[in-house]
Amino acid sequence: MNKEIWNGYSDELPCPRCQKGKLKDYKTDVSSEIIDSQIENNFGPNGVVCPDATLRVTAHLKCSKCDDVAIMCYERIEDVRHTDEEGNEIFEIVPLFYHPAPPLIHIPTSCPSPVADVIKQSFSLYWVDLASCANKIRVALEVLMDHYQIDHNLSLHQRIRTFEATHFKISKYMLAAKWIGNSGSHRADVTRNSILDAYELLEYILEQLFNDKERSLDELSARINAARQHE
Ligand SMILES: [Zn+2]
Repeated sequence: MNKEIWNGYSDELPCPRCQKGKLKDYKTDVSSEIIDSQIENNFGPNGVVCPDATLRVTAHLKCSKCDDVAIMCYERIEDVRHTDEEGNEIFEIVPLFYHPAPPLIHIPTSCPSPVADVIKQSFSLYWVDLASCANKIRVALEVLMDHYQIDHNLSLHQRIRTFEATHFKISKYMLAAKWIGNSGSHRADVTRNSILDAYELLEYILEQLFNDKERSLDELSARINAARQHE
């Protein structure tokens, strides 16, 4: 997981469909300056100019590999008083929403769909509400414990402790991800960086539990061994 690209706007975000290409802007964005910004920036003869202008924008993105499309809404904050050293406008893009949302982590093909579905929902919430995103990551851990048929009457903490008996190292990572997930209920504790930490842990947990390479090698070796069993 490359945490750098998830800390704001980036044109390096992976495609939700194929996960291989990058989402690139491919049409002219539609943008409008918000009313309060227009009032604050009166460029008339006796006008006043505030430091920033704020625009709301919709963009159409296309995958560089599979051509599938996604939409994005963002705010564009323009510095109306200064330019950079080359005379270009200075601005910041603040993403508000993606549909479908790009995957923050790789989900193995062999990951059970109830777990994968919850994680995909968390990808949308990442842009909209970090506390809800943290909660959803916590739900993903609960669903993961369901998959392993760990007693659902126990608390998530106890379930992970039970899981420890068969998955010692993984359960340590799960507990850490759970603490971050819990912080969704105490909204002040949730930061973008803590969520990215939780995703990093989650990606490794899934990689260890649902190893696509191992599964394909299992199938390959079973096929070879079956073909040779009479030799
Ligand atoms: Zn794609």
